[in-house]
Amino acid sequence: MTERMERRLLDLKARQQAGEHMMCPRCGADTMKEPVCTNALSRVADLYVCDSCGTAEAMLAFMKQDYPLTSWAAFQPVRPPSDLEALPAAEVLQRVMKEQADTLIHLYRMCRDDPENASEYRLEAFESCPGLTEVWTQPFYVKYRAADGAAIIMFKTGTDGRIQIAECVVDK
Ligand SMILES: [Zn+2]
Repeated sequence: MTERMERRLLDLKARQQAGEHMMCPRCGADTMKEPVCTNALSRVADLYVCDSCGTAEAMLAFMKQDYPLTSWAAFQPVRPPSDLEALPAAEVLQRVMKEQADTLIHLYRMCRDDPENASEYRLEAFESCPGLTEVWTQPFYVKYRAADGAAIIMFKTGTDGRIQIAECVVDK
C-alpha cells in the first residue's frame, strides 16, 4: 500500500472511531447505521462498511474474488479543476509537458519500480495532474481530452536506463 493510501485509510478509521456519520466508504451510499460499530467490519481494511457491502464482501471471499481498496468509493480521486479540455490538443500537449512532465515522470517511475501498487499510483495521477482523462500503467501512458481531440504521452525506459517520452496529438 502506498503512503497516500495508508494516510487516507487512517483518516477514515479515526473518523469512524470518533463516531462521525459518513457515507459507506466502500459503496459511497448513505447506508451506514448509527452507531458506526453496528455496521459490518470490512474484510479488506480495518473499517466499517454498510451491511450490503459486508454481504458482498462475504460473497467475494466465498468466490475467492478481489475487490481492492482502490475500487472503494472513499478512495476515488478528487480531480482538481482544469481548463485543458477547452483548448486545442496541440496546446494541451504543450501545457502538460511544461507543467506536469515532472509529476508524470515520477508516477511512471513509481509504477515501473513498484508495480504492485500501480493502481494506487494511477489514482494519485488523477489528483496531481489537472485535466488528466485516462491513465494506463502497463505500459505507462496518459491521455488528456482536448477541444478538438486528445493529447497522448507515453513513457518507457530505454536500454541505457534513460526515460523515453513519446507524445502525439489525435483528432476527435
Ligand atoms: Zn456500502
